[in-house]
Amino acid sequence: MSILFGEQKSPDLEGFVKDNALILLPVGQTEEHGPHLPINTDSIIAREIASAVCQRMVSEVPALVMDTVCTGYSSAALKNWPGTIVLQPETVIDALCDTCVSLIEMGFRRIAMLSIHGNHQGIMRMVARKVADATDVYPVAVFPIALGMERFLEVAQAGPEGSCHAGELETSLMLHLAPGLVDMEKVTEPNPLRPASRFSKGVFWSTWGRERSKHGYYGDPTVASAETGKVAFDAIVEETAAFLAEFCKETS
Ligand SMILES: [Zn+2]
Repeated sequence: MSILFGEQKSPDLEGFVKDNALILLPVGQTEEHGPHLPINTDSIIAREIASAVCQRMVSEVPALVMDTVCTGYSSAALKNWPGTIVLQPETVIDALCDTCVSLIEMGFRRIAMLSIHGNHQGIMRMVARKVADATDVYPVAVFPIALGMERFLEVAQAGPEGSCHAGELETSLMLHLAPGLVDMEKVTEPNPLRPASRFSKGVFWSTWGRERSKHGYYGDPTVASAETGKVAFDAIVEETAAFLAEFCKETS
């Protein structure tokens, strides 16, 4: 049976509601990713993580993956290169809230939004709060990259500053997941971010416009590899599935 929400027929969904199925909603974005990665990189990675997590969990918990949300919010700095579609944060919040509420009105109780796009973290936290306030059902916002970061950093060549936007991590993940869409000949030099200050964990300062990326990537894609991508992807999927198993126990 298909794990895709969109391939179900309406009566089949009643069965999934009865079984308290987990609904995974990958939230991507369309934005420039340097000269070497496609503009739908965030959507591809979010979709692949969600389907691998679903495949891994489905023998224990009924689960479905929704079609990936492909447009959201990006900082204006990324409009310096073609390919970036920017919805206002309020629009993204509304769209995600309405999607969750529609699922809840169908009877679903376990909803997990997943995004690898940093600009969506604050937005998805707000969605999780607003939906919970309005419905007394508690969707979760998952940031899978953070869950796999420790194991990625064990094999990363460029350190934490090398893996922001279209840097070592995303490029490695794409070399693992969709190598035909990556053009490594286009990356010739790193564009490291300024090192994080010791206060970084306690402050948020939107500085992408000040980083002055030359090529549209932030970090170091030159050292990316499919092997690193596989280590990161496997860690991300394992940790995300482990968390969601916990989430399902809490929402049984
Ligand atoms: Zn990205």
